[in-house]
Amino acid sequence: MTRAVAYLDHNATTPLSDAARAAMAAAWAEGPLNPSSKHYPGQRARAIIEEARESVADRLGAAADEVIFTSGGTEAANLAVRGAPVERFIVSFMEHPAVMKPAKASGRPVALWEVDERGVADLAALKRHLAAGSGRALVCLMLASNETGVIEPLAEAAAIAHEHGALVFCDAVQAAGKMDVDMRALGVDMLAVSAHKFGGPQGAGVLIVREGIALEPLLLGGGQERRLRAGTENVAAIAGLAAALDEALRNRAEKDSHVRRLRDRLESALQAVAPDAVIFSSGAERLSNTVMFAHPALEADVALMAFDLDGVALSAGSACHAGRGEVSRALVAMGADRELARRALRVSLGPGNTEEDIARFAASLRNQLRRAHASAA
Ligand code: PLP
Repeated sequence: MTRAVAYLDHNATTPLSDAARAAMAAAWAEGPLNPSSKHYPGQRARAIIEEARESVADRLGAAADEVIFTSGGTEAANLAVRGAPVERFIVSFMEHPAVMKPAKASGRPVALWEVDERGVADLAALKRHLAAGSGRALVCLMLASNETGVIEPLAEAAAIAHEHGALVFCDAVQAAGKMDVDMRALGVDMLAVSAHKFGGPQGAGVLIVREGIALEPLLLGGGQERRLRAGTENVAAIAGLAAALDEALRNRAEKDSHVRRLRDRLESALQAVAPDAVIFSSGAERLSNTVMFAHPALEADVALMAFDLDGVALSAGSACHAGRGEVSRALVAMGADRELARRALRVSLGPGNTEEDIARFAASLRNQLRRAHASAA
């Protein structure tokens, strides 16, 4: 970046890690990389992606042959939802459009699954939805919200779903690299992650599919990725994904406590500068890096521009909703006031952030509120 910016938008995307950059450069330096080719360069490409597969499986609590490389989180979620051998869907209100939209487009029944006022999925409601419909269901619940950072009760939900013969898909796109993600411990059937959310390149993701699930592919073509994802693999990006995940998890406790300290400082500054601000999901377990808040005197779009002019990069609501003037479905489902939900701003920190970044955020917020109060007087 040419302009010095306090980058507080890590849930939108993260800076490429040195480990990912080095792994991709090393892969490209190998020469032509088609892992389906039988000759020596093809064998080298195959070795790179199989090594990456082992590494990713190891870090996410899966077996290597359960790992399917995709073009990102959106494709992984679409493959899980569109390809699942189920007759209906139970989708939490917190889900990302990459999960919600393919479920709705499937033509099969979709039950929207309620959350409490903190955004935590209601397990009693899940039981009701499972009992109410007929046919095998796919239960969709994200591990951590891209919007409020709330962490969902995945293991409990998976156990309930399995008692009713349902399958479970977990969108772990925001969780991976920021908290422990163990497919086996969670007990889910499918799980998606995306490289660019943990220091890897854009356009690379993973769907883990538990053995024995007869998934239908989205793309028809060659037999790559256990016939579940046709198309020549993006070898360098896959190497970058594995290296980034490894790097994100290395010394994670230390990084987590740094990020948590900054988050706490930011929330204290918010309370001091803007006592009328509401922090969404603050009563729930949350990712240590995410703060979604709203202030009655701040319009999200105007605030976003003002922060930007002051060299602070953050998001209005979720990046995926930005610019469309939509109120977040998740916040509405949590019972948030619509006017306040419309004003939601999201700060998402990363290990590279500093105290100075938080001070810059607080100074910008203070100036914005001063201007807002002056113009209201
Ligand atoms: N799921 C969640 C929770 C996300 O936050 C995102 C991206 O913002 C996606 C899925 C889509 O991932 P990708 O950008 O890799 O397509």
